[in-house]
Amino acid sequence: MIGIEDLRVKNMTKTAKGSVETPGKKVRAKACLNRAILDGTPGERRRQLEYKTRIYGSVLVAVPPFHTSQTCAACGLVDPQSRQGCGRLFACTRCGHEDDADHNASVEIEARARRTSGSDINSTRSTRTVRVPADGRRRLREAPAPAQAS
Ligand SMILES: [Zn+2]
Repeated sequence: MIGIEDLRVKNMTKTAKGSVETPGKKVRAKACLNRAILDGTPGERRRQLEYKTRIYGSVLVAVPPFHTSQTCAACGLVDPQSRQGCGRLFACTRCGHEDDADHNASVEIEARARRTSGSDINSTRSTRTVRVPADGRRRLREAPAPAQAS
């Protein structure tokens, strides 16, 4: 199982320009952020995960992205104050759990994916083996069998 955030990239990368009557704020900063988001090509990464999980017999679960970076993976508290200054450190204001902010968010995303998909799916690689055909080529599961030449 692979859990990802169900991000709306189009909404995330909207321009902050505004209009002549109501000009936007922090337009340059937002443009830089948009560039950074799109440099990561989240749409392409998701597209690849979608077809590769099909090939490998895995499950891709897209979870709601709300507050994943502010949620404590240890106790579940949602608090923006746990991300002081938006640095790399996550420090829970309730239970004191500390972690790299990205790692903490990834644990939360995995937990949401498990809840979404049902807990019977095991995310460890050792439980699901990928069968590679003798010729070493992987095929999509739903691909029709090749016609027999006679
Ligand atoms: Zn906590």
